[in-house]
Amino acid sequence: MRVAIIPGDGIGPEVISSAVRAIEAVSADIEMEEALMGLDAHRRTGSYLPERTVELLRDVPAALFGAITSPLSYDPTYRSPLLQIRKEFDLYANIRPVKRLHPDIGLVDLDAVIVRENTEGMYTGIERDEGDGVITERKVTTRACRRLVDRALRLCREEGRRKLTCVHKSNVLRRSDGLFRKIFYERAEGQGIEVSDMLVDAAAAALITKPRDLDVIVTLNLYGDILSDEAAALTGGLGFAPSANMGDDLALFEPTHGSAPDIAGKNIANPVAAILSAAMMLRHLGMKDKALRLETAVKDALANGLRTRDAGGRLGTEEFTRAYLEVLGTT
Ligand code: ATP
Repeated sequence: MRVAIIPGDGIGPEVISSAVRAIEAVSADIEMEEALMGLDAHRRTGSYLPERTVELLRDVPAALFGAITSPLSYDPTYRSPLLQIRKEFDLYANIRPVKRLHPDIGLVDLDAVIVRENTEGMYTGIERDEGDGVITERKVTTRACRRLVDRALRLCREEGRRKLTCVHKSNVLRRSDGLFRKIFYERAEGQGIEVSDMLVDAAAAALITKPRDLDVIVTLNLYGDILSDEAAALTGGLGFAPSANMGDDLALFEPTHGSAPDIAGKNIANPVAAILSAAMMLRHLGMKDKALRLETAVKDALANGLRTRDAGGRLGTEEFTRAYLEVLGTT
């Protein structure tokens, strides 16, 4: 099986190198083909998203992506390559597991997954001046809600998760969020999974006050964006937060963090989010045992006190990776 590896810019190549070595260490039966995207791709090829990369993505079921940096000075030809890919491949669900990996990392005992709508909601980008202000169009469709809820149900089944909570604001946005809530119950009830719903403000509080009550959350774009960053902060920060962008034909796995130009090239980035994204990719490709090995070794490494600086440790990216690979070798 072939997958695309897109290291990108900034700390992307550093953390993806760690993830690739972890995949190799468990002898995953995949062929990894590297591709270009982002600022470095533009420097080398004149394009932020070279056609060869798009062609490769058409041919593979999955890609592991690092991060990209936006152009530093204004470039009128620039369109975010990630947004283009999301659109072209209709990556409609953003999936973010948020799990505390060790008692002294993060603030709360959370072990949840946030499934976020990725194509519409508040992110239509359609705004117009009206009167003395600006109107923003917010879109919620039956089709998008259905496939999102179905994807969340599939995740519950595949990962043996027991509870699915729909997060919305239908007390105010009665028609749009009301539609989402209605579709949620239509599709999720009677599927053998405990279902409930919660207002987004209550969910933001519950992540802190009742983290153990939350299991899988399915929610619209803006709420998912904010709640998943909150949840990442509560479970140790960006260095520990993996994610997936799922479509029907392609799934793109990436650490939640960006290219962090401030720490790029300094050997201090935490590669855990990238390694956990690689584990998500292996699980998606049917290699459950290998995925579990990568994840268990992360937990064991942290339990052994191995830490990069963002987690209060002293190890550099390379030192952490080597020590992690040693732990992985013994699992
Ligand atoms: P971009 O514009 O590409 O999103 P950014 O710097 O604005 O980059 P992030 O890359 O998401 O945003 O990161 C914000 C800050 O968090 C970084 O400046 C960095 O200091 C820290 N950070 C992010 N990822 C990591 C990581 N893997 N390890 C350590 N620190 C990180």
